[in-house]
Amino acid sequence: MPRGTTPRQPSKSGRHTAAKVSRGGSRMPKTPTPPKPTQTSLPRMKTGSAKGYNPVAPERVAEILKRLDARYPNVKCALHHNSAWELLVATILSAQCTDVRVNMVTPVIFAKYPTPQHFAALNPEELEPDIRSTGFFRNKAKSIVGAAKKVVSEFGGKVPDTMEELLTVPGAARKTANVVLGSWFGKNIGVVVDTHVHRISRRLEFTKNDDAVKIEQDLMKVIPQKKWTDFSHQIIHHGRGICVARKPKCAECPLEDMCHAGDKTWSTVEIHKNAQ
Ligand code: SF4
Repeated sequence: MPRGTTPRQPSKSGRHTAAKVSRGGSRMPKTPTPPKPTQTSLPRMKTGSAKGYNPVAPERVAEILKRLDARYPNVKCALHHNSAWELLVATILSAQCTDVRVNMVTPVIFAKYPTPQHFAALNPEELEPDIRSTGFFRNKAKSIVGAAKKVVSEFGGKVPDTMEELLTVPGAARKTANVVLGSWFGKNIGVVVDTHVHRISRRLEFTKNDDAVKIEQDLMKVIPQKKWTDFSHQIIHHGRGICVARKPKCAECPLEDMCHAGDKTWSTVEIHKNAQ
């Protein structure tokens, strides 16, 4: 390759190598670089080395939420459901399992057992074959049948709509309760922290914690309450399509120029090693 034509590479430090200039002083043509985020006209955020940088500053958070709204408008829960009960069951089944797989299993079991009363009458072993493909099927069968018994015996066959009551239902920890409260009852009581929300909240420096309960507490301080449910859904979509666990597609990301994550694959801003 002739001198002065070294392709411009993404820089892990965030400092791009300047395009080389030929001996005659004219700029050499650039090799194509990955597409930049569409919001390049927006001001760059200060980097970690910049004095006063605050990753949870309200204006930074607001800009990130705005961009998520633009990229993922009208997001919905990816688990198919027609009632709070169906959503509760689908959410229990979704632990360590893809939503696609859960959406294949739930129509079969809800056709067979249409109401919580039908599930409550089962032995967990009877349910196991139908949910085997979602993994951890023995525990999930116990949780679902236990949840059905609780819902039937204590809540008149209806899934309760408060966090306190939901947490008494077998198989419904805080994450499951947040899914049901947010997506079915339209109540922003908390933030769903699944694997995607966990990972991306750290990459965006909304939290330094590694524990789901603590991450949720951090997010509830940073994200306005009315956005809690939308934020969860948007980040889950983002985590599936762009900000994946390994080799996130940073060049396609609408948050790229605001993200300093240590494991970015392409960056126009300085990297913060602890942001991951
Ligand atoms: S820039 Fe990369 S690491 Fe940061 S949020 Fe986007 S995809 Fe994730």
